[in-house]
Amino acid sequence: MDIRRMAIPTPFGEGHVNVYLLPRRPVTLIDTGIPGPRSLQSIQRGLAEAGLELADVEQVVLTHIHGDHAGGLSAILAEHDLPVYVHEFARPWMEGGDEEAARMEAFQETFTQRCGAPRMQRRGGMRPPPAARVRYVRDGDRLEAGGRVWEVVHVPGHSRVDICLWDRETGEAVVGDHLLPEISSNAFVEPPLPDETERPRPLILYRASMARTRALPWTTLYPGHGTPFANHRALVDRRLEEHDERCEQILGVLEGGATTVWEVSRALFPWLEGPQVFLGLSEVQGHLDLLEERGQVRVEPGDVWRYRPARA
Ligand SMILES: [Zn+2]
Repeated sequence: MDIRRMAIPTPFGEGHVNVYLLPRRPVTLIDTGIPGPRSLQSIQRGLAEAGLELADVEQVVLTHIHGDHAGGLSAILAEHDLPVYVHEFARPWMEGGDEEAARMEAFQETFTQRCGAPRMQRRGGMRPPPAARVRYVRDGDRLEAGGRVWEVVHVPGHSRVDICLWDRETGEAVVGDHLLPEISSNAFVEPPLPDETERPRPLILYRASMARTRALPWTTLYPGHGTPFANHRALVDRRLEEHDERCEQILGVLEGGATTVWEVSRALFPWLEGPQVFLGLSEVQGHLDLLEERGQVRVEPGDVWRYRPARA
């Protein structure tokens, strides 16, 4: 077996995150689990089952830098120094230190305010790992891992830095959180890159990435959560339909008199509390971006942005 899935327990909703071990040379881990010693212990058990130990691992690839995928990297590097492959848009976070952390916090605060939401507890961003040997990759790069050559496919949406690894020979693809079989991935609102002025529109980016990967001749997909699956085209179609349904739902709430991202979010997800509120705001903002692009809502910018339905 030259792709081994290790389901690592997490305290989050999905219950686990997948780390993939490619046991042939160069021996590769794709993703790393959550911060702390537990994920590392699970990874070490998985390595032992393959007759390997941590010292045999030659490189790590991060599909993206969310805490459940990149969080375990620090514990790994503390034991064993390795080259780490990650998309080049992760550079500000990997190298930016406190200044970049402050920039991201300031963005979140402004965004929350524009949504009309009360000031919230900060989400407490993850600190970047002390990786000395980071290799930044971009779309179309080739990467040798586990006895094969993989092509990097950049799929911004769930986050700006999401990548998939595609083996053109077998059609297999390791897809991180770009496509998940059992749950729909959020497209998170993120700050612009340091050289950009506008925040990216995550759901619009995500849909474009899905349209692109839908067209690729992929066979088996290895997701960041859940079990490997096939027939990704049907899954993409379902996710795109879900976006349309959510848009209709949001239009209904706006027609009922809500105008701000916060009001819509409260109507849709009244159970969200604390730092989780941001997930709701992000979800609603993403769909409002799409509705705006489709000419179905108008936005009045200001300290608080107000959205009104354009139909009727
Ligand atoms: Zn993620």
